[in-house]
Amino acid sequence: MTTTHILGYPRIGNKRELKFALEQYWQGEISQQGLLDVGATIRHHNWQVQKDAGLSFVTVGDFAWYDQVLQTSLTLGHIPKRHRNGHPDLDTLFRIARGKAPTGCSCAASDMTKWFNTNYHYIVPEFTKEDEFNLSWNQIFDEVNEAQKSGHSVKPVILGPLSYLYLGKEKEEGFNRLDLLPRLLSVYQQIFAKFKAQGVEWVQIDEPILALELPEAWRKAYNLAYQVIAGDVKLLLTTYFESVEQQLDIISQLKVNGLHIDLNVAPQQLDAVVNSVPQDWIISLGTINGRNVWKANLNTWIKTLTPAIEKLGDRAWLSTSCSLLHTPVDLEQETDLEPEVESWLAFAKQKTGEVVLLAEALSGNETAITKCAEYSAAIEARATSTRVNKPEVQARVNAITDALAKRDVDYAQRAEAQKATLNLPLFPTTTIGSFPQTGEIRQQRRAHKAGNLTDADYKSAMQGHIKDAIERQEKLGLDVLVHGEPERNDMVEYFAENLDGFAVTRFGWVQSYGSRCVKPAVIVGDISRESPITVEWATYAQSLSEKPVKGMLTGPVTILGWTFPREDLSRQQIAEQIALALRDEVADLQDAGIKIIQIDEPAIREGMPLKVSDWKAYLEWAVNAFKISAASAVADTQIHTHMCYSEFNDIIDSVAALDADVITIETSRSDMELLQAFEEFSYPNEIGPGVYDIHSPNIPPVESIVGLLEKARKTIPDERLWVNPDCGLKTRNWTEVESALANLVEAAKTLRSAT
Ligand code: GLN
Ligand code: ZN
Repeated sequence: MTTTHILGYPRIGNKRELKFALEQYWQGEISQQGLLDVGATIRHHNWQVQKDAGLSFVTVGDFAWYDQVLQTSLTLGHIPKRHRNGHPDLDTLFRIARGKAPTGCSCAASDMTKWFNTNYHYIVPEFTKEDEFNLSWNQIFDEVNEAQKSGHSVKPVILGPLSYLYLGKEKEEGFNRLDLLPRLLSVYQQIFAKFKAQGVEWVQIDEPILALELPEAWRKAYNLAYQVIAGDVKLLLTTYFESVEQQLDIISQLKVNGLHIDLNVAPQQLDAVVNSVPQDWIISLGTINGRNVWKANLNTWIKTLTPAIEKLGDRAWLSTSCSLLHTPVDLEQETDLEPEVESWLAFAKQKTGEVVLLAEALSGNETAITKCAEYSAAIEARATSTRVNKPEVQARVNAITDALAKRDVDYAQRAEAQKATLNLPLFPTTTIGSFPQTGEIRQQRRAHKAGNLTDADYKSAMQGHIKDAIERQEKLGLDVLVHGEPERNDMVEYFAENLDGFAVTRFGWVQSYGSRCVKPAVIVGDISRESPITVEWATYAQSLSEKPVKGMLTGPVTILGWTFPREDLSRQQIAEQIALALRDEVADLQDAGIKIIQIDEPAIREGMPLKVSDWKAYLEWAVNAFKISAASAVADTQIHTHMCYSEFNDIIDSVAALDADVITIETSRSDMELLQAFEEFSYPNEIGPGVYDIHSPNIPPVESIVGLLEKARKTIPDERLWVNPDCGLKTRNWTEVESALANLVEAAKTLRSAT
């Protein structure tokens, strides 16, 4: 039968055991041995799942205490200078990741950034000219040993040398991290020699950067690198998240023994790959989608893959498209899903089974072919489900015109109208939306969800928090208020729960970084708004104050970006459906007397496609979706948007094209550097550059806020400059928030009195 494997399995455990153990260990509540035991249990469980499913190999080395890139750094003995003291150990790893660990000194953590276009974040390797690499961390070999001892046939996975270098950053001027390659390669040689001694036959070597459009020097480096490291074991060069067609000229020259490709994102590359790689290579067909929660239609895959399997014979392997790290662990744990919806879904464990069943069917096994038909029946039936198809929604999307995305009048006229209506002072002060989510708030939301707090009691409890937030803001002297978002557990899940067309899981957690997990909702069908969502909370808040209170919405691109999308519609079409629902909410808020409405879009930047050549098309529809949602606002309704953790340089024209009246952004940590892009572009509308780093417990003094604002004034004219924190305040406590905001208001006053 066809050889089967997966590229990796979620490491957090069925019930997020790793998260809880990590946090307990960091708090000193369990010993290091306690943590090690939890990790070992998860690994053994994961291997057993793969074995029970019938995969040819279990994947080893996909487990990481914090992140797989950081794990690679440890294996390579590549530790930032400030974190070096003696032989690297588990606490060294945590110090690099978090700045501190139960033992050893605290010093700055390494940067963290997004893993390609996923919601997973990795720890960025730091490179300096003198860096050395030494094999100094034996975890992967120990794990291979562990797995072999348990009787598994093992395929270790390791991040390849060029991706490791590429994904890092130079920490000093005047050198190129690519120059470190020769030193790095000698460690890879040692690693493979060790694997060989352990009896390993195949190694999965991940080179995901091959899916990007690489600079020529990096492309060229591949050839040499793989000549140096080849020999001891068979290498399965592994790519995912995009097509590698643009690299086939170099890939096909490499000294490896096989290539894994992602046929989910890029099915079109199959023929080119089959035709260009050497005749003796394995081709691992990345079929089962590792980034989504849908059952695969195995019937369709049988049809699609049969010609390739016939051509390749034993050279074809079958796998997931990428690591299953990006999917929730086990659907069997879900108890509250509608049976129809549940019948459409598959999480990591189920997907592992799909790989094997499909492989059996592809090798002609009649029972398996029948099983595939049965298995796929539910997902095929979904195509005609009334839960999925809502003709009114589809008709409305089809009727979208260019005009629908345009405000009545342009910004200059709107600004005049808004000035007259809102009557705000110069340098208006505001916040981004959420206020501290206290234990009491969380407990009340939980009790309501569990049915232990009546709707009426819940409502009055939340109104109490809103009233409290409004009073505090009044006292602080802020100019534009917010209701504080106590009713939202998460800015996307809240809308997913209140819009039709989404399903929310109970245990569908996916690792975001370290011990942090997210639980994205699932877009199951056409999206519609059955009734107003935020209007009651917003109008209640507004009734308590003479000052404007912002209505608060999450934008269409962000809702799409932070959920599991359906796969039978384009991302653009889904975003348009959400945009139309939000557009109605904007209109209702406005009709209810809300004068300022904020539509958050923090995820626009991160939704960018991996290939630069695809950016333009994406940005066009993304911007348009936002505009459709905002354009039901009349001239004197002020539309705000908010974006955090964004680099604006390459998207500034699209940010401007959103045509929000006011944009608030995260700038305090970059010392206003991010504003440069706005200056160079002559950004035309109002801007609130963040002057309070909400990620830090530190209270910014008045002088430092004034300093930041003075910097901002060099770029932004006074009448277009707002004063606000970097982002929402839900993770801070009230003591911090009140002191920081008092200083922020004071700083605005200082500026006003000086003009
Ligand atoms: N309005 C949201 C809040 O204040 C925005 C959060 C975000 O940008 N991530 O929490
Ligand atoms: Zn933010």
